[in-house]
Amino acid sequence: MYDKTIAELGAGLRAGDFSSLELTQGYLDRIRRLDAALNSFISVVEDSALETARAADERMKAGRAGPLTGIPIAHKDIFCTQGIKTSCGSRMLDNFVSPYDAAVVSRFREAGAVVLGKTNMDEFAMGSSNETSYFGPVRNPWDTERVPGGSSGGSAAAVAARLAVAATGTDTGGSIRQPASLCGITGLKPTYGRVSRYGMIAFASSLDQGGPMTRSAEDAAAMLQVMAGFDPRDSTSSEQPVPDYGAQLDADLAGLRIGLVQEYFDAGLDPAVAQSVRDAVEEYRRLGAEVVEVSLPNSALAVPTYYVVAPAECSSNLSRFDGVRYGYRCAQPRDLEDLYKRSRAEGFGAEVKRRIMIGTYALSAGYYDAYYLKAQKIRHLISSDFRRAFETVDVLMGPVSPTTAFRVGEKTDDPVTMYLSDIYTIAVNLAGLPAISVPVAPAQNMPVGLHIVGNYFAEARLLNLAHRLQQVTDWHKQAPAGFV
Ligand code: GLN
Repeated sequence: MYDKTIAELGAGLRAGDFSSLELTQGYLDRIRRLDAALNSFISVVEDSALETARAADERMKAGRAGPLTGIPIAHKDIFCTQGIKTSCGSRMLDNFVSPYDAAVVSRFREAGAVVLGKTNMDEFAMGSSNETSYFGPVRNPWDTERVPGGSSGGSAAAVAARLAVAATGTDTGGSIRQPASLCGITGLKPTYGRVSRYGMIAFASSLDQGGPMTRSAEDAAAMLQVMAGFDPRDSTSSEQPVPDYGAQLDADLAGLRIGLVQEYFDAGLDPAVAQSVRDAVEEYRRLGAEVVEVSLPNSALAVPTYYVVAPAECSSNLSRFDGVRYGYRCAQPRDLEDLYKRSRAEGFGAEVKRRIMIGTYALSAGYYDAYYLKAQKIRHLISSDFRRAFETVDVLMGPVSPTTAFRVGEKTDDPVTMYLSDIYTIAVNLAGLPAISVPVAPAQNMPVGLHIVGNYFAEARLLNLAHRLQQVTDWHKQAPAGFV
């Protein structure tokens, strides 16, 4: 049951083989039994889940069910949910219950999906290991001594451990793809503007994008179908029509041109990870694709550029958490100044403070031109690299992460090493492109993700490529021992 796809579960529900109430109850039982070892959920909402499941069963009987009706999913705790705490992994919002739903959340609600709870994450989505969460680290179900990746590590661990059929995530520099890679699931970061950011707590507004985290490409297509589309409440939302993602999953790959990014197979890449990625690329050759080498010459500039742009935007976005309107407030402030200072000092964790300080510095008078403006110029060069590459190839391939999951605590004392976890994913956010992580052969018995990057709005093509690989391999079907 817990290995079935969204389509299979939907068919079972509609045929009356089982009810959404039974399915939901089953998942809630699994969470209760298995999540203590993972810490993948911040909130589990049994009552409202069961209530939605009952309503879904009614809707099923009335013949008004859609593909997601009655399917138990989880939301990353960055998406505002009316009536359920939205903490963003922070003490700052540990007491915050949003008065409204994020666009993504209301879309799933309208589709009749059952929300089991909210998943753990790095504080304000800043991190690559889920260790910056105020609610404690998440463990990787494949080896609980190791991290699940971040910042959507709770979503990745929950889906990999079959504690939810699918989950939402967000990706500012790799936070859907890197945890998907480290946990052996499928994670899609859509084109910037494809999924509404309304009600998704902002980290770096020009980079943030929500997307699906699932066990298969087919499930990712079903999830994206619900999530994607224009939203007038998000000024960067795209009006581009949303295609039928499921209809293109089986498209032929003959003649498709794949560019293997030469800069990504560098000295920092674990040779076993490189081998798994190359083997997967060979599968595509067998499926009729042509493979050529391409160069993205400004690749090495992506991480330093991101660590100016993202902190700059976060320092501005996080200034709203001031202890006055909502969120954490320090006890007995002496005056307004003291209220601001102590609420922020006590409410934010170390990584968030580090980013706010870097960002504030980069935006200061006299430094703006040297750092922020310079970073924006380099960002343009990085986008141009991709534009040139897509003149000769249809998609780009490489690894998602330089290594498999590292040990809990291994990189926490060295932020710069941690930042390098996203060395292959960050450029994609700077350019606003879509990309997917697809499970390929494990290395050192831990999952590995293949990174496929597409041109703007090529989500259907990415899902098609992932699906075709998943028809000839079964890496995406493997389940971590102890969670089957
Ligand atoms: N790991 C990167 C960071 O720490 C990316 C995070 C993200 O995509 N939200 O900023």
